[in-house]
Amino acid sequence: MAEPGVNGPEPIEVPPMISVRDLSEIIGVSPIDLIKNLMANGIMANINQTLDFDTAAIVAEDMGYELVPEGMLAAAEEEKEEKVEPEAAAEPEEEVPPYWQMFVDPGEPVEPRPPIITVLGHVDHGKTTLLDAIREANVAGGEAGGITQHIGAYQVVQQGKKITFIDTPGHEAFTAMRARGAQVTDIAVLVVAAGDGLMPQTLEAINHARAARVPIVVALNKVDLATARPQRVLQQLAEEDLIPDAWGGDTFVVEISALRKTGIDELLDAIVLVAESLEPAANPDKPAVGTVLEAELDRSRGVTATLLIQAGTLHKGDNIVAGATYGRVRAMFDERGKQTEEAGPAIPVAILGLNEVPRAGDIFEVVEDESTARAIAEEQQEEEEKGKLYTVPTSLEELFDRMQAGEVKELNLIVKADVQGSLEPIESQLEQLGTDELKVNVLHTGTGTITENDIMLASASDAVVVGFNVPADGVAKRQAEAEGVDVRLYSIIYRLTEDVQKALEGLLEPEYKKFLIGQVEVRAVFSIPRGGNVAGCYVTDGKVKRGAIARLFRTGGMVYEGEVDSLKRFTEDVREVAQGYECGMGLTYYDDYEEGDIIRVYEERQVQ
Ligand code: GDP
Repeated sequence: MAEPGVNGPEPIEVPPMISVRDLSEIIGVSPIDLIKNLMANGIMANINQTLDFDTAAIVAEDMGYELVPEGMLAAAEEEKEEKVEPEAAAEPEEEVPPYWQMFVDPGEPVEPRPPIITVLGHVDHGKTTLLDAIREANVAGGEAGGITQHIGAYQVVQQGKKITFIDTPGHEAFTAMRARGAQVTDIAVLVVAAGDGLMPQTLEAINHARAARVPIVVALNKVDLATARPQRVLQQLAEEDLIPDAWGGDTFVVEISALRKTGIDELLDAIVLVAESLEPAANPDKPAVGTVLEAELDRSRGVTATLLIQAGTLHKGDNIVAGATYGRVRAMFDERGKQTEEAGPAIPVAILGLNEVPRAGDIFEVVEDESTARAIAEEQQEEEEKGKLYTVPTSLEELFDRMQAGEVKELNLIVKADVQGSLEPIESQLEQLGTDELKVNVLHTGTGTITENDIMLASASDAVVVGFNVPADGVAKRQAEAEGVDVRLYSIIYRLTEDVQKALEGLLEPEYKKFLIGQVEVRAVFSIPRGGNVAGCYVTDGKVKRGAIARLFRTGGMVYEGEVDSLKRFTEDVREVAQGYECGMGLTYYDDYEEGDIIRVYEERQVQ
């Protein structure tokens, strides 16, 4: 029987299945009391009945005992020991420098900066309520009652230290930014409602944070509700390898009620502690660089964009480039809507003065003058156009080449399956395929259709998405094409593992893929006497060929895909037309050309 410890009862280890009799012995209560308690929880059990862990833990919790699964304490102990003697750790984990190093030049002096926090979690678990509670309780500078504006991020002060919170919760925004190449988060706060426990989006959020190598602090929310089962959540977290600090692990789990504003201070303390171990830093004394958090077009003020400075200091009057847009910082506002002249690392500001609306996740930087800004923005725009055209998917085929070239040391996979039961065998078989040189890394698993979220995570992490007995939805398919993500669908586990195995060995059968061969601009539309329209075109890049695949774009979006059906120079039918020439072109089953349309032409080629 366990002795109560100084800080409350010690957790008691039990096997995954346990009889009522054994449980009563282990926790040291009479079997009758235990059975009564089970009945109170709606479970009619006799003394020989076997209980699963969750049931046992719930009943034990009601009686004031904390259960943990067998082996968990030993695992936590081991983890502790490993920390004491780091050299004893056999894990050859490669040291990955923190992401903010990308803003630090070699030898550059840096100063500590506030940590930047993103709040993740399942819908309705209280992310927004928590962000509001933190903002109200703890506005930076202690300006009580200071009305903060929603500009996309805000700062609070805890223990005299500033913390920056990104105000758009959820892993969708977080991963979409990463897919653009931006990373702005040092710590993820995972909100879990104590009654519901870990839900599908909680698991997704954990995996998205892990893929970004961002440490997690858990806010165990809604503990004010009678349905709260904190012990069960600790257990679920441990199953996801987030061993709670209360069990000797290194994941802080803080009980809070975002609604009643309890536990907020403790949560902020935990964040400060984790931030101390991360030591985020930046050089404030250079031209600013950072990320666009939000942007919109305001009728009276023009483009407003919220920028989070990640290194350097931004000044009013600076010339900046943000993605494919540029401008001069005409005015700059802090989170309270007050005009400000400058802002340093980890500070969010809203600015006016960009010529167009940048996208969330675009990187911005200060440049010398306006003409440089314009030139870089234009170049960026061209790059983006080309990038879209020539995106080479991180496909299984391509992986082998990159592996041989030493560029890739991990094969990242996202696995979706129809049922939970298929996921585990697939995941374990896939991970076994890895070698010392090339690790197979399953970043995320889940049941159900492949969605946009899976594609964004894959794009942000250079992963391949594999589906087992599940389709990809329409949005996901389009997104996969736009982002250049390889999606592979299987219905036999063997085929799936075989393909990954072959990819690792460079033996995958060649596949056919579309390659862009040219682009034309529609400059006039002619109607033909015997019905139909033809586009009068100018070949701006590459060449066009009769029979090639054609995609017609209008104001950035694709409106039609077909084939080049007819191709003429003046009145003569030709097989192909090269760059710099005009031609008349007709696409299969299409008639609706407009001046200014762009037609991109592709050829299918074998890829090895
Ligand atoms: P989000 O979807 O994760 O942003 O969740 P919200 O912050 O919108 O919260 C969802 C619902 O849960 C709202 O009705 C909140 O009032 C409620 N809620 C949030 N935190 C708590 C809490 O600590 N206790 C209780 N009882 N309700 C809460």
